[in-house]
Amino acid sequence: NLIYPEIIVPSDERQAGEQGVLLPVMEQFYTIQGEGYNTGRAAYFIRLGGCDVGCHWCDVKESWDADAHPRQSVAQLVENVLAYPGRNVVITGGEPLMHDLGPLTAALQAAGCRTWIETSGAHPLSGSWDWVCVSPKKFKAPLPEVLAAAHELKIIVFNKHDFTWAEEHAALVPSTTRLYLQPEWSRATAMTPELVEYVKQHPQWQVSLQTHKYLDIP
Ligand code: SF4
Repeated sequence: NLIYPEIIVPSDERQAGEQGVLLPVMEQFYTIQGEGYNTGRAAYFIRLGGCDVGCHWCDVKESWDADAHPRQSVAQLVENVLAYPGRNVVITGGEPLMHDLGPLTAALQAAGCRTWIETSGAHPLSGSWDWVCVSPKKFKAPLPEVLAAAHELKIIVFNKHDFTWAEEHAALVPSTTRLYLQPEWSRATAMTPELVEYVKQHPQWQVSLQTHKYLDIP
């Protein structure tokens, strides 16, 4: 059985006078979305600092401490995005929902951008989203309200027990949610054949690969 934590109030964001909300930014870059439903689409990635989920296989552990990353204003972030021709913006982390994403997503959408999020779902949903990808983690359970908003459920498969776990979460998202199984990168060689076989037997799922890693792009 899944046990959900109490609703957690998002951390307060520091205010910066006329600059408004400041968010800790670990990195930002314009590239191709490498995985999931939007694979292959050009997108501007904003990786926010801060994560309390604690996945042992996390490949961005340097994102965990929000205070280790310089803060940028919403206005500056929007300006950075608009310097590139693409209008898809992925907000990722870290766990981006540790922050109130209302101001950032409102400003991005007002500027004509589509807002996409990659979240574990472990914190309350804030912001206005054109695409919500929930990738729940065993280390901190997703909130029902975030699962209910998922356009995409992406399960990272570390071992074969994760297939059962994937089905438990597929039962918690809307029937229209797209379902993806993605091998954890360090286990891709070992797990991909089993994952392919599972999808052949359970075709409601699709395989997602981290194509950006195969392509060696950010
Ligand atoms: Fe790393 Fe994401 Fe897990 Fe946080 S939720 S520990 S950023 S993999």
